[in-house]
Amino acid sequence: MRAPFYNGFQSHSIIKSRGEKIHIFDNIEKLRGFSFLGLIKYLLMRLQGKSLLVGGSCNGCGSCCRRLSLEGRNGWLRSVRDFKRIKSDYPEYQRFEMIGRDEQGFLIFNCSWCTDEGDCGDYDNRLLLCRNFPEKSLKFSGGSLPLSCGYRFMEVEPFEKSLNREIRKITNNEKNSDS
Ligand code: SF4
Ligand code: SF4
Repeated sequence: MRAPFYNGFQSHSIIKSRGEKIHIFDNIEKLRGFSFLGLIKYLLMRLQGKSLLVGGSCNGCGSCCRRLSLEGRNGWLRSVRDFKRIKSDYPEYQRFEMIGRDEQGFLIFNCSWCTDEGDCGDYDNRLLLCRNFPEKSLKFSGGSLPLSCGYRFMEVEPFEKSLNREIRKITNNEKNSDS
């Protein structure tokens, strides 16, 4: 299980970034990536009929490139051997350098392409997982956005639900004025 909050921690998913999953398994894969507390948060949100939106924009702080976690086929990486295997299978992941472990033993990485100014050294060729950051699954997997990040997660009522409610109101008003 991942910690509920990781300040300044970015979660990357190799599986998702490779786009190799078969669609029917998406939800199962999604649940596998949840932490226990993340699963409770997810279920509560669904029970309240809310959905998650990503708001804000990137301010270029570079925090998500300097301290991040990686997810392999068997979950968040703890094993150096697993990381070596990933680098061998997917050479594009050689840009990531291990900088330690967190208190729960998960490996922490820095991206060697991140400049001192926090920019991507090869922005046009950055990985898909970088392009997709922050993924909504981060909120439920035990990770969190870095404090300096310009994005934020927002739990909102889905637009369709609000629209239907307004349509019902208008329809009821029309019925009442006719009677
Ligand atoms: S490839 Fe670029 S965007 Fe991706 S982690 Fe490295 S520096 Fe950041
Ligand atoms: S604002 Fe967020 S997405 Fe942009 S570089 Fe900082 S941590 Fe990464």
